[in-house]
Amino acid sequence: MILRLRSNAEPHEHRALVTTLRDYGLDVTYLVGGGAPVVGIHTPGLPRAFADDLARLPVVETVLEPSRPYRLAAREVRPEGTVVRVGSACIGGREPVIIAGPCTVESREQLLRIAEAVREAGATLLRGGAYKPRTSPYSFQGLGERGLELLAEARERTGLPIVTEVLDTEQVELVAQYADILQIGSRNMMNFALLRKVAATGKPVLLKRGFAATIEEWLLAAEYLLAGGNDQVVLCERGVRGFEPATRFMLDLNAVPLVRQLSHLPVVVDPSHGTGLRELVPAMSLAAIAAGAHGLMLEVHIAPETALVDGRQSIDPATLAEVVRRVRAVRAAVEAFVTV
Ligand code: PEP
Ligand code: MN
Repeated sequence: MILRLRSNAEPHEHRALVTTLRDYGLDVTYLVGGGAPVVGIHTPGLPRAFADDLARLPVVETVLEPSRPYRLAAREVRPEGTVVRVGSACIGGREPVIIAGPCTVESREQLLRIAEAVREAGATLLRGGAYKPRTSPYSFQGLGERGLELLAEARERTGLPIVTEVLDTEQVELVAQYADILQIGSRNMMNFALLRKVAATGKPVLLKRGFAATIEEWLLAAEYLLAGGNDQVVLCERGVRGFEPATRFMLDLNAVPLVRQLSHLPVVVDPSHGTGLRELVPAMSLAAIAAGAHGLMLEVHIAPETALVDGRQSIDPATLAEVVRRVRAVRAAVEAFVTV
């Protein structure tokens, strides 16, 4: 059962209701970060009369019976949409967000130069991996904590909030000390222990779609975060495994309008991993925005050919600036048309 609470009630009235429900021994989630306050009651077998009683409380706006397996992530819970706020960036609003930066933090000089350049080009957030999920154990695994320190320095210099990946449960506390948004990578989308632990930090989360995950599995992974009391969740489509070897993955842009219909969570697209080829990144960036994405995650490098990781799919800052300019035009063109 899901309760939408009245936004005009006082927060202490919301909390009093949550406390009372928990005192009854009910399993309750309270979400308030990203929009209208919502309470999920997960205890099975509650009588209809109980729902009717709750519906009569002045603090309760509506009582919903979830119609989808992802109960809290379903669009009906917050039809107006969730907005994730990070510093001055607002993900899920009208302005497309641009998350840009190197695949991997390689050195102080590399990161600081790229950070300044992406800010100049119009990025709203800085990305960069300190812990990398590499297919081969012999590939560069990232700078670890030193990478996090460098990201914090880049944030200080540019004012851009930082997005960085957390690979396993043991790193969550450390990465959360540095990151503004914790990224869950494609390979970890179904690492449920990690999802639970990341949810508990209360920090915004960027949840990448598993490259072999269905949309329902992806939304159920988001549900782990929401059920853990964290509604600061941004979905990221990054391509799925297909049969075509000419591109790295198949960027599933169907997922964008579909997920916007199915869920209230904001959705961004990563055309860098989705294509694997920098020449395709501008076109697919614009296509993603035309499809209704709330923003983009783009890999950018000063000298893409020399990047230690994912250079083939990294664009340079001048291309980023052009993408940002055109993204705004595309967004304006589809504004009143691409809705849910
Ligand atoms: C990344 O963003 O650098 C990354 C590793 O992405 P994914 O998890 O989508 O492969
Ligand atoms: Mn990468």
